[in-house]
Amino acid sequence: MLDKLVIANRGEIALRIQRACRELGIRTVAVHSEADREAKYVKLAEESVCIGPPSASESYLNVPAVIAAAEVTDAGAIHPGYGFLAENADFAERVEQSGFVFVGPRAETIRLMGDKIAAIRAMKDAGVPCVPGSDGPLGEQDRDNLRLAAGIGYPVMIKAAGGGGGKGMRVVHTEATLLNAISLTRAEAEASFNDDTVYMEKYLERPRHVEFQVLADQHGNVVHLGSRDCSMQRRHQKVIEEAPAPGIGRDLQLEIGEKCAQACRAFSYQSAGTFEFLYQDDKFYFIEMNTRIQVEHPVTEMITGIDIVKEQLHIAFGRRLSYKQEQINWRGHAIECRINAEDSVSFLPSPGRILQYHQPGGPGIRIDSHIYNNYVVPPYYDSLIAKLVSHGSDRSEAIARMQSALHEMVVDGIKTNIPLHQRILRDGGFQSGDVNIHYLEKRFAQ
Ligand code: ADP
Repeated sequence: MLDKLVIANRGEIALRIQRACRELGIRTVAVHSEADREAKYVKLAEESVCIGPPSASESYLNVPAVIAAAEVTDAGAIHPGYGFLAENADFAERVEQSGFVFVGPRAETIRLMGDKIAAIRAMKDAGVPCVPGSDGPLGEQDRDNLRLAAGIGYPVMIKAAGGGGGKGMRVVHTEATLLNAISLTRAEAEASFNDDTVYMEKYLERPRHVEFQVLADQHGNVVHLGSRDCSMQRRHQKVIEEAPAPGIGRDLQLEIGEKCAQACRAFSYQSAGTFEFLYQDDKFYFIEMNTRIQVEHPVTEMITGIDIVKEQLHIAFGRRLSYKQEQINWRGHAIECRINAEDSVSFLPSPGRILQYHQPGGPGIRIDSHIYNNYVVPPYYDSLIAKLVSHGSDRSEAIARMQSALHEMVVDGIKTNIPLHQRILRDGGFQSGDVNIHYLEKRFAQ
């Protein structure tokens, strides 16, 4: 196995990857911007390389600088984490062409999944249930598009094939606004993604967000690790995630998980990945696949006992999965609260110095965080400062443990969304486990 790896990321996920490497005896190189020089994981890494000024476009997104850092340190592999370069197919390709192992899927798979129309086609062919829609790009003929929408039934959604981050989509409720919405989405897609290809989908009005984690090695072995519910969202950003998705029958979960595994076999997927679905009226509808480790991976780790980051590393270095689907067990229930440096009512970011930090603990509590007393949260990046995870024998125990941990946790000097999490955890709707993706905004974030 290789002995040195570049972590091309920052914050909690950089620390998480570093921990997995240390367990496996892999030395780490932390690449960092000028703003992250003092970060704990940078000091803890065997080597570190400053790759540019604070702005992400000049540092964490700077492909030549990241690759040069691997070259000068004589590392063998690069782990991209999530965000930044993680789903950039050109980057994955450059990494491999430069002679390093990219810890993730092949560049061509990343490219396929980045094109939503191609991804949906591939999924349909593999038997994964998708949202009823145009089955391809929309043409220029108004009559055809009107007929298509009438056939699907309003409301419909117009989406950019190259879209991401919740951008490039528009809901259309009536025929009168369809053509204008198509033109607007096209223009937006061209401006944001350099590609004006758009497609049409049935708009589901009150779905839950339910996703499935998969692991696939380079030898055709694939398993799924079950479901996660991430319906608690604000502006398409997940706030709380849990595993397994509550209230959905075990047989249906296993059936969808198996379909995801089957799809991975069909297009020779490798590494960790996530199939995202909307779930409404007992049916699953695929929306997209994420070809990277996800923020919410710990909840799956807690209920399966499988270390997904270590598995990513094993897979990247050619090792076979050491277990079969039948050997995977789901134990209890896990919840993750994303603790952000932001005001809990206005959601405005709150960077700055942490004057006092007390980390919660106790049975079933895990915290993934890079912060400490006197750490300065920089204003340049995502506001996630910690992931607080609870595990219990069932959902109510996981909720009770989370409530206790939120009560214990102290982050002074900056504002955090801990009060928001406390309100959600007490909320009857959340406790029922049956809320859709609009619930949080309607109930807490007016
Ligand atoms: P992105 O890549 O920008 O995240 P997604 O396709 O994953 O785009 O969609 C983001 C979010 O938009 C979903 O989580 C869901 O909240 C909403 N959404 C997407 N497609 C639909 C649909 N057909 N019906 C209802 N909501 C949708």
